[in-house]
Amino acid sequence: MENCLFCKIIDGEIDSDIVYEDEQVIAFKDINPQAPTHILIVPKKHISTLLDLDEEDNELIGHIYQVANELAQREGIAEDGFRVVSNCKEAGGQTVFHIHYHLLGGRDLQWPPG
Ligand code: 5GP
Ligand code: ZN
Repeated sequence: MENCLFCKIIDGEIDSDIVYEDEQVIAFKDINPQAPTHILIVPKKHISTLLDLDEEDNELIGHIYQVANELAQREGIAEDGFRVVSNCKEAGGQTVFHIHYHLLGGRDLQWPPG
């Protein structure tokens, strides 16, 4: 998808600090971290928002949660706990319109978020 920041990161046109990659998914450190661990888990398929998910994406989204599981353990945030969150559209706080999942941990997170 042209002019999509995360598609450019996936294609290697824009540098990022990649911590995980497989055929379906890439994960890299957020450029503006909100917690000691702040990783973005992103499907390589361009899907703009949660509202654009199809039934055929169910396996992909399940896989993303397994990647979150693996990365949380690798990052050492699994024992204390962490958060996986996806923002949808402007009022939900979404700024990059390529679906992604924030993995946040390493500090006590507040709930509800602002
Ligand atoms: P959203 O606001 O859409 O839920 O999340 C987008 C995230 O992408 C933000 O947390 C923001 O800091 C991060 N971000 C924006 N531009 C870049 C970039 O060029 N590189 C990386 N690694 N993260 C980015
Ligand atoms: Zn994209």
